[in-house]
Amino acid sequence: MRDDNCIFCKIANGDIPSKALYEDDDFKVILDLGPATKGHALILPKNHYANIYKLPDEAASKVMLLAKKMTIRMTEKLNCDGFNLVQNNGEDAGQTVFHFHLHLIPRYKNDGQTLGWKSMEPTPEELEDIRKIITE
Ligand code: AMP
Ligand code: ZN
Repeated sequence: MRDDNCIFCKIANGDIPSKALYEDDDFKVILDLGPATKGHALILPKNHYANIYKLPDEAASKVMLLAKKMTIRMTEKLNCDGFNLVQNNGEDAGQTVFHFHLHLIPRYKNDGQTLGWKSMEPTPEELEDIRKIITE
């Protein structure tokens, strides 16, 4: 379940060195080389799944439990003021490395980062239309 051309496969499986924070049979957690804030880390599955659409249910469950554990530990150790979990799927959503990863981003008061979006102003009808599309 590895892709020989994938840098995160190589990092997760130890073929390329990284600043690892945690490792088990299924995952490696590493520091991001281009961090948004101090301590920005990535959870990488050891198996290659391109994105959340390809992620098996079992790995999806495990990744959220690990994210919770890492968030608690990192918050204690870094004394950060908040925490973002970010996960991009597809080029248009900002994904640049096509091996599933979950960003763990400690946040600090006045850290100057803006992880966000411009809010649209949908009408009640537009909200209802989109609700129907998703649920029907
Ligand atoms: P995304 O845009 O969600 O695909 O995120 C890719 C992330 O991987 C970015 O935050 C990069 O800084 C980070 N990154 C890319 N290559 C490496 C690497 N070799 N080691 C650690 N982080 C990396
Ligand atoms: Zn991979």
